[in-house]
Amino acid sequence: MVGGGFTGLSAAYHAAEAGSEVVLVEAAEPGWGAAGRNGGQVIPGFKLDPDDLDRRFGEELGRRLTDFGATAPDLVFELVAKHAIDCEARREGWVHAVHGRAALPLEEERVRQWQARGAALEMLDGDQVAAVLGTDAYVAGLLDPRGGWLQPLAYARGLARAAQSAGVSLHGMSPATRIDRRADGWQIATPSGSVTARQVLICTNAYSNTLWPRLTRSLIPVTSFQVATEPLSDELRARILPKGHVSSDTRRLLRYFCMTSEGRLVVGGRGHSRESDRRELYAHIVASLHELYPETAGARLEYFWSGRVALTLDHLPKISELGPGMWSGAGYNGRGVAMATAMGRLLARCAGGASADSLPLRPTKARPLPFHGLRAPAIGVAVGWKRLLDAWEARRR
Ligand SMILES: Cc1cc2nc3c(=O)[nH]c(=O)nc-3n(C[C@H](O)[C@H](O)[C@H](O)COP(=O)(O)OP(=O)(O)OC[C@H]3O[C@@H](n4cnc5c(N)ncnc54)[C@H](O)[C@@H]3O)c2cc1C
Repeated sequence: MVGGGFTGLSAAYHAAEAGSEVVLVEAAEPGWGAAGRNGGQVIPGFKLDPDDLDRRFGEELGRRLTDFGATAPDLVFELVAKHAIDCEARREGWVHAVHGRAALPLEEERVRQWQARGAALEMLDGDQVAAVLGTDAYVAGLLDPRGGWLQPLAYARGLARAAQSAGVSLHGMSPATRIDRRADGWQIATPSGSVTARQVLICTNAYSNTLWPRLTRSLIPVTSFQVATEPLSDELRARILPKGHVSSDTRRLLRYFCMTSEGRLVVGGRGHSRESDRRELYAHIVASLHELYPETAGARLEYFWSGRVALTLDHLPKISELGPGMWSGAGYNGRGVAMATAMGRLLARCAGGASADSLPLRPTKARPLPFHGLRAPAIGVAVGWKRLLDAWEARRR
């Protein structure tokens, strides 16, 4: 197992539980990547809707894929409960906040599709969404009660402990530097030793580097930035996200926000092309925070941080078959808390010999994206354009 984020830790845990001998190497420490720095929003489903999945994969596989996305949060909360992971987990629901009228029909259609499949999603009107979020910045919202929040680094560390208890041999500060084919499997080299294994799972997602270039070139890494206020007064906490919902919005460059258990308001969004803690690069996130919640203008901003998410061209995560007995799971498009945990379990099944037909997400070959090297300037141009469209739509609300 290479990489100790949600994907790798969940894969390691599930493979060990199924009786495999598992070694996990992590370049830094468990949860060092996006797993330990994200917004903690546990979001069900994919960016594609159930009908889209049916159309694309056929009814049978589409339905299984929809179920896989829908139940991914259940797995997270089950693992938290089973292993008593102390990560402040709560399940009050996720709100997809609608930033302008143009985005409304799509959300209404989304609710219709999920309701037709028995899920208890509902549409909130402008007043209802304002009451739930504590801001009047949105015209409506989709409320999905399956979503929730947790403290992501604490969850990652809890998963690491669960994996170790299940027998996983976990090695931090052990970057895999090479993987070579051997007669009976693979050899994974690290600076201080090597591991031989019949199966290898590469779980490095947006932090994939030169280890397996085909995998790296099949993903589009983008940076997401977040800021956190100081713990807010009881009065502000009673007004902002008063019932503990988490939210991300329908903008092309989405904003996402939540209240932590200690009362810090955390707001995130797309950042500069590289990770950085230079405060001036967070100006647009701070502006979002103050636009959404002007009453926080006097609150001290105590934390600024960033990390990488991996996008895919079709907005779906991928299991890639990289060689005989070697797979990777990646590309959660910013929704990896639930999805990467569920992906880890699928990868463990791959390594345990499950047939491709039995999986809701079929393994494919990693397909390097054309012009991958030029992505940074291209993304820069796209970001500017999307920001303009978002602002225009929000103004026409
Ligand atoms: C700022 C931010 C906010 C986000 N907010 C949310 C959110 O609210 N909700 C949500 O669902 N998703 C969110 N995401 C996305 C989510 O965090 C990711 O999808 C998820 O963490 C992916 O997990 P992972 O295990 O695949 O990858 P990661 O957690 O990134 O782990 C990859 C690991 O691989 C290790 N690694 C890399 N190369 C090597 C090597 N050669 N050898 C050994 N180890 C290696 C890295 O050190 C790293 O620890 C957010 C992401 C960011 C960055």
